[in-house]
Amino acid sequence: MQCPYCESDSRVVDSRGAADGVRRRRVCNACRRRFTTYERVGSPQIRVLKRSGQSQPFDPAKLRQVLGRVARHRPTLSERDVDRLVRDLEGRLDDSGERAVRSGQIAELVLARLADLDRLAYDRFAANYLDETGQLRTDFPKPMTDEEAQQLGLFQPDAPGEGDT
Ligand SMILES: [Zn+2]
Repeated sequence: MQCPYCESDSRVVDSRGAADGVRRRRVCNACRRRFTTYERVGSPQIRVLKRSGQSQPFDPAKLRQVLGRVARHRPTLSERDVDRLVRDLEGRLDDSGERAVRSGQIAELVLARLADLDRLAYDRFAANYLDETGQLRTDFPKPMTDEEAQQLGLFQPDAPGEGDT
């Protein structure tokens, strides 16, 4: 980390956890001045805008949970694929520099990736987590219980020929 005063290298002299990240005391190797940095854990807090105009922090863990359910029993969509998808999405949101995204934008990015990865998972996601306008339904709702999923016929063994389309 560069010293904010003289732009030389600095080193950490103390670090401690803060509410949403890590607070580090640093000292400049050149001018010896001290300064503090805060490092957020994970991505910066990007907010997801709902259609109602409300927003909530983007929660990658919830998205991972949702996609884990969507991907269940899909051999073509491994846990690693889901992890990579979520990380890519986080990266794209970070890179965009935006502080807020529409939930529909997230849905589009997820759908674009699922379309490449697994058509049935795409359909499951579209059917269960999007509203009629293509927005994420209440932005990542509480994941369905297994019982609810069973009732919807979501996670039953694939019907013959289902993967061939
Ligand atoms: Zn310095």
